[in-house]
Amino acid sequence: MRRLLVAGNWKMHGSRAMVEELMNGLLDGAGSVPGPELAVFPPFPYLALVQSLAGGSSIAWGGQNLDPHEQGAFTGEVSAGMLRDFGCRYVLVGHSERRSLFGESSAQVARKFFAAKAAGLVPVLCVGETQAERESGDTERVVAAQIDAVLDSGGTAAFADAVIAYEPVWAIGTGLTASSEQAQAIHAFIRDKLTGLDGTIGGQIRLLYGGSVKATNAADLFRQPDIDGALVGGASLAAEDFLGICQGAG
Ligand code: PEP
Repeated sequence: MRRLLVAGNWKMHGSRAMVEELMNGLLDGAGSVPGPELAVFPPFPYLALVQSLAGGSSIAWGGQNLDPHEQGAFTGEVSAGMLRDFGCRYVLVGHSERRSLFGESSAQVARKFFAAKAAGLVPVLCVGETQAERESGDTERVVAAQIDAVLDSGGTAAFADAVIAYEPVWAIGTGLTASSEQAQAIHAFIRDKLTGLDGTIGGQIRLLYGGSVKATNAADLFRQPDIDGALVGGASLAAEDFLGICQGAG
């Protein structure tokens, strides 16, 4: 039985005051949504604050990115060990904004994935196609290649205890959401691919959907058999909206 995970990617939003208000709202409301696991992904400077507010609660947190090196002369970067120092359970790798705005290749994303695992973090591997790739019928090929970059280096075992977030690029921050049928079809494709390699890992891995998830569409998405939660951007910045999505997880 896979426990749903609802994860909030705050991106480069927030201030000390906003983080305190948002976390207090989430901590107050988390008890009313006992079903899913909740996690937040604040900008790096607020990890310590989130740790002090959410430590000992049911809410987990993680980094939005990491550098694959353990340490060294990499100005501006943050290692997996540093994220662990601040109590992170998760880290996003390969978010489409990292791929498109910062030029991260699937090979670099794979290195980050393995650095996260080596440090005891759970990597959340983000995959997804652009609008043009969907229109040219390339969705499955693109998603498979993004997953293969990890499989090629670490085999199927790499996905034990990992999370994959399917986030069609055209649905991120646009207000457009994949229909629950469209999302389910790709989630089933991903699960079938992994199950074909290792039935246990394919059956256990949590597959999140991301792309303009809101309280109004969450329940329908979460009813799909291969959708195990959501990675939420915009609607994770207000406690009421994020908790509304979590309610959809039952
Ligand atoms: C995201 O950034 O991962 C995301 C899904 O954003 P939004 O919910 O705003 O589309």
